[in-house]
Amino acid sequence: MVNLISDTVTKPTPGMLQAMWAAEVGDDVFKEDPTAIALEHLCAERFGMEAALFCPSGTMANQIALKVHTRPLDEVICDEMSHIYQYEVGGYAFHSGIGVNLLKGENGILTAEMVENAIKPPFDWLPKSTLVVIENTCNKGGGSMYDLETIRQIGAVCRKHGMAYHMDGARLFNALVETGNTPEEIGAEMDSISICLSKGLGAPVGSVLLGTQTFIKEARRVRKAMGGGMRQVGYLAAAGIYALNHHVTRLREDHQNARTLATILETLPWVCNIRPVQTNILIFDLKPPLTPAIYLEKLKQNGILASAFGPQTIRFVTHLDITQPMMDHVGRILHQIK
Ligand SMILES: *Cc1c(COP(=O)(O)O)cnc(C)c1O
Repeated sequence: MVNLISDTVTKPTPGMLQAMWAAEVGDDVFKEDPTAIALEHLCAERFGMEAALFCPSGTMANQIALKVHTRPLDEVICDEMSHIYQYEVGGYAFHSGIGVNLLKGENGILTAEMVENAIKPPFDWLPKSTLVVIENTCNKGGGSMYDLETIRQIGAVCRKHGMAYHMDGARLFNALVETGNTPEEIGAEMDSISICLSKGLGAPVGSVLLGTQTFIKEARRVRKAMGGGMRQVGYLAAAGIYALNHHVTRLREDHQNARTLATILETLPWVCNIRPVQTNILIFDLKPPLTPAIYLEKLKQNGILASAFGPQTIRFVTHLDITQPMMDHVGRILHQIK
């Protein structure tokens, strides 16, 4: 099967398993797991940020950030496509007692002007706008990404209005290999960043939350309260270290594969509205009467898995486990089925 459902489906490579097997571990709740500590140091150093925290999932890393940056009755300003709004079970309300102020960016990408116009005035009857979250790359936006200038401009608005600034960087490395920006350039702008090791980077589990010493100290408490304090977690952290050292630059191959698939789709008469392909996500619509249910079933019969992403919409995600022979197979099948 060629699995284009998500980049979360990647499995550890032999080299990664070797690194996991060889990891030194200890009880990380007591801060005694050397490998978890090494991963946190590596990430903090790479982004030029003070501290980091290994978390079981990207969702938990984001939810901790929301909790530490806000108080109940605050609101977070974000795009309506944001993962924190769409796919985290409404956790912002559940864990943090906050609301969302949703903006309509371009494919999930906001501008500083949009953010500044959305800030609520300080009236007793309004939620307080205390946090801005940007998603880079934006999943629902088709793997769209921010340019550094926009990140800086939104940061300036946050500082001017005393708001915290968090980046959901689940796929931040996909953006970095494409833009050529360094992790430090992003780290310098943000109060906090979450990154996923378990997406295209290929680790089986894990995300890292980055921020100041004070922020991470509190984040550690919130992680424990959410049940995310882990014991001999170095086995998983080792996979993360391996991923950061071996699987970052190769993300370019995933982007090339996504562009190749887009080029094929452009020639097919039953496909329309192919969203601009910037990284490893490809979103497009089918022309009626073709529906996602029919199309996905035909793909499946030919050994290809993908997902529906709306009433007429399909999403393909390329990743580490997609080989050249698989790409050739997908190319052939896309031309064949109709
Ligand atoms: C996958 C994802 C997350 C959450 O990660 P999980 O590990 O699946 O909880 C957060 N934000 C974005 C943009 C993602 O794609």
